Amino acid sequence: MINQDWKKQLEDELKTTNEEIKFLEKSEDYRETAEEITNELDEDFTESEDEIVGNQQLADWIQRKHQIVNALEKIESGKNFGNCENCGLEINARRLKLMPYTPYCVSCQTKLEKQVS
Ligand SMILES: [Zn+2]
Repeated sequence: MINQDWKKQLEDELKTTNEEIKFLEKSEDYRETAEEITNELDEDFTESEDEIVGNQQLADWIQRKHQIVNALEKIESGKNFGNCENCGLEINARRLKLMPYTPYCVSCQTKLEKQVS
């Protein structure tokens, strides 16, 4: 797929994600706003992880939004989209199709997830 196609897919994904965030923000189960969670994520992801656990679903969507925006920026700036940010290898095409916003290949993602938990 060419970058323009990815861009279109990412923009659709961004729209869905924004709608989901808006929907979750309105729900009374979430005591924090998306903005507060974003600030926490920016500060220190690992340290604030406990705090945001009650808002995990919302936090997941916000994180995804960040990834989508990053991926779009990558395309805009003409950088090589579709390469893993950790090891630089090409990300599996099937994986990219499912999650065009993912910054990592499968093996790096698995490694990073193990580090977190
Ligand atoms: Zn990798």
